[in-house]
Amino acid sequence: MERHPTQPPSQTSGAPAASPAASTVASPAGQGDSHGAARGPIVGIDLGTTNSLVAILTDAGPRILGATPNGDIVPSVVRYAVGDGVAHAEAVGRVARETQSTYPSRTIASAKRLLGRSAAETRTFSLGFSLPLAEGPRGIAALEVEGVIVTPQQVAADLLRELRRVAESDLGCPVHRAVITVPAYFDDAQRQATRDAARLAGLEALRIVNEPTAAALAYGFGQSRRSERIAVYDLGGGTFDVTILDIVPAEEIGTGADCFQVLATAGDTALGGDDIDRAIVGHWISAGLAEPTTAAERAELVAAAERAKVVLVDRAVVVERARCGENDVALSLTADELATAAAPFVERTLAACRRALSDAGTTVREIDRVVLVGGSTRLVSVRAAVARFFEREPYVALDPDRVVALGAAVQAAIVGGNRKDLLLLDVIPLSLGIETVGGAMAKLIMRNSPIPSKAHEHFSTSKDGQTNVRIHVLQGERELAQHCRSLGVFDLRGIPPMPAGIPQIDVAFTVDQNGVLSVRAVEKRSGREASIQVVPSYGLSADEVERMERESVEHARDDMTVHRVIDLRVHSELDLKWISEALARVRAALDPVYVGELEASMTAVRALCASAAVDPRGVDANQFHQAKQALDVLSMRVHEVSITESLRKS
Ligand code: ADP
Ligand code: MG
Repeated sequence: MERHPTQPPSQTSGAPAASPAASTVASPAGQGDSHGAARGPIVGIDLGTTNSLVAILTDAGPRILGATPNGDIVPSVVRYAVGDGVAHAEAVGRVARETQSTYPSRTIASAKRLLGRSAAETRTFSLGFSLPLAEGPRGIAALEVEGVIVTPQQVAADLLRELRRVAESDLGCPVHRAVITVPAYFDDAQRQATRDAARLAGLEALRIVNEPTAAALAYGFGQSRRSERIAVYDLGGGTFDVTILDIVPAEEIGTGADCFQVLATAGDTALGGDDIDRAIVGHWISAGLAEPTTAAERAELVAAAERAKVVLVDRAVVVERARCGENDVALSLTADELATAAAPFVERTLAACRRALSDAGTTVREIDRVVLVGGSTRLVSVRAAVARFFEREPYVALDPDRVVALGAAVQAAIVGGNRKDLLLLDVIPLSLGIETVGGAMAKLIMRNSPIPSKAHEHFSTSKDGQTNVRIHVLQGERELAQHCRSLGVFDLRGIPPMPAGIPQIDVAFTVDQNGVLSVRAVEKRSGREASIQVVPSYGLSADEVERMERESVEHARDDMTVHRVIDLRVHSELDLKWISEALARVRAALDPVYVGELEASMTAVRALCASAAVDPRGVDANQFHQAKQALDVLSMRVHEVSITESLRKS
């Protein structure tokens, strides 16, 4: 990097500083939305075994509806109240889930496992329902709630009604039409049962789409004009499936639309995050925790295990509290323990991957892309295992627990007929870069760059012995990080301690043809690396893009000044440190008058640094620049003497 090593940037919480090496990127641009049709919007729904979501396509890409501080995910759990021989939904979603252990005899979770199956069929496999299995009308599988039969269609309908309500209150208009996703392995009866549930909820299911196809659509696959083979690995709460599918471009098969063809699907309907939670409880018990004596106690421990698992994401250890009998116990979980608990289940998913490949008559080498779906794929050990198995980095930029709903929204817009050009990516609407020390934004990829594109830049540390660098990925035109949109943060850890400015950190931005941004940071000497994937423009509306552009012009001069002050401060602080070190070594060999002048100049610069640290806007950039230049000139002598001295010694 140009400034390296005399003017290093970056530090523990800020990162690299440098100027953009320019280039290019992509984003789904110029999309319409799926409103506007005379009959109201068409939403996309992921009706999951564990969690459900509803989404819509907007100008800025698909958006999940109903985001609240508690989140946008609706747990697929319904609590029933029974009266006059009928059961009606009393609580749906989060509330029902959180109070599940209080009302075990009236709460239904994972009803999707029974959907479209016959009672006879379900008797043969254990599904782990806390409620008794029953036979519904025409021999269909159902559950019994306090003596009343509840069909899985009814449970699904209650969930869909809640999702419809969420969508209506978010969009502010009635919603009657949806695209609903189902697992690729669902047979006709299961698909029909899903349609029936929609009708009960007052929704017309315009399309039933395979979940893996929706995931591929969310990533905008199918734009490349050549066939692509995709593996979708979906590890949810209670089920696992892997699907191999081909996307065949419209022109190759002479149809109006790209074709998503499922080649094979394999999996396990009793394998998922829940198993990992139970394994964690098993680990605690083998480490000395007393066996739970009641179902409620066990449920409490499993809930603590899930919390620990979810929170652990990028930490080394977490501690959760749970009530165990009379006692309040503290339970710890380390990243290694979590990986060990998950390992046997991860291994079973890989066996299914092997099966799917062989059923599809294909090999890992013929797979073009791998997509991760399902909340449990957030596990580091799952990601690593999938990457190893498929010999490539999987796509993870979209939230794995939201990607199916996002894709359903894309499909909804296609069905609505208002977007044929849908995910045609052309240019990136806003620049991409990282935060540098002091809070400035260093742009690596400039706005309006075409896709795909790459850019990289060298950065360094700003403190001696600094072993971690935080990389904050930003999108926007403004000069300061705080005015840009944060796309994600990751840490490059384990850099061997070196003096400030010596580590060479290469930060690379790659935007592929789907607009997915990968950022990778590598420290050259140690080879330590870390990375993140994001989809830059999703979540921004056309208006927002316009506003950010406008603001960047309005604030350009002001921002530039502040950026300059921040840079001056960063470089001055490093200069001050080096000068102090040199001065400490050779003070005796210097003229005291010179030392006095030098120290006065250092004090002046130090004061400006301090003010800039409090408020960079309150500092005159030109005055700061002059003070720093004066110090640069004055300090030459002390550096010279110091260098001569050390040469003489060696
Ligand atoms: P489904 O498709 O079956 O409805 P989801 O895709 O919503 O399920 O996945 C739910 C599962 O994901 C749960 O087991 C939950 O514990 C797990 N999960 C959610 N977040 C994380 C996380 N950060 N780490 C590990 N597992 C997670
Ligand atoms: Mg799912």
